[in-house]
Amino acid sequence: MPRTLSTEETAKIEETIRTRAERQLRRFEAVTRGMAPRHCPICNYHGMFTPYGSPPRIDAHCAKCGSLERHRLYALMIQSESSFSGQDKVLHFAAEHHIRRMVRPKVASYQTAEIRESSKPALERRP
Ligand SMILES: [Zn+2]
Repeated sequence: MPRTLSTEETAKIEETIRTRAERQLRRFEAVTRGMAPRHCPICNYHGMFTPYGSPPRIDAHCAKCGSLERHRLYALMIQSESSFSGQDKVLHFAAEHHIRRMVRPKVASYQTAEIRESSKPALERRP
């Protein structure tokens, strides 16, 4: 037969639950502010990034230009000396504007694989 908790036992359990909940809340708040200052190779922003996605990825979203991890990884690759030559022809699928702006000036020919005219950059639209 279960016994009834004393007032002191109940108060101690409530305090333990409150302390643990407050600790978890402080951790959650720290994560949503960002873990540490970051650098964005696309816009040169230096500061805290924000979470992005569902479930949220910590420090995923640049607060200045809106780039995500994959954009910044591509940017680092594109900025490397060996990524493109001036003679390269590029057909870009699912062209994101952050990447498009970096690739276009480095290659001889650049086309996106956009089907809808409204999704194409202005230079590629038919008159
Ligand atoms: Zn940025």
